[in-house]
Amino acid sequence: MDCIFCKIVKGDIPCHKIGENDDFLCFLDINPISKGHALIVPKRHFKDVMEFPKELDEGYFAFAQDMAAKIVQAVAADGFNLGMNNGEAAGQVVMHQHTHIIPRFDGDGLAAWPPQEVSQDELLALKEKILKA
Ligand code: 5GP
Ligand code: ZN
Repeated sequence: MDCIFCKIVKGDIPCHKIGENDDFLCFLDINPISKGHALIVPKRHFKDVMEFPKELDEGYFAFAQDMAAKIVQAVAADGFNLGMNNGEAAGQVVMHQHTHIIPRFDGDGLAAWPPQEVSQDELLALKEKILKA
């Protein structure tokens, strides 16, 4: 399979590795959104979070917490975003599941997602739909 993150995991493509355990690898993003922007990838190939096995959830989250703490300390960040794009519509470009750790700094000006107006009726209808799904 021609997957860039599988190649990074195997060591066929270099990366700036900042953390690793049996299941996960963490390395610096090649086109960082902010200083310290890093990616966490499972060593096994899963397309997105829906393919990701739930038995790895706890270890993944724990690894993400540890890596975020180290990065935040190293770059003296004021906060960070922990984010995952799933599917092209959500901005996923590399189809090997990964989580972004994006350090944030007071007044860094990175835009937030724009909120939209919605009525209570719309929220209610949506809630019913999701509860039935
Ligand atoms: P996505 O949009 O799929 O969530 O994000 C993919 C991320 O992978 C992007 O932030 C991009 O900069 C990063 N990326 C893509 N190719 C490489 C690579 O070869 N090395 C590293 N370190 N990061 C990469
Ligand atoms: Zn892969």
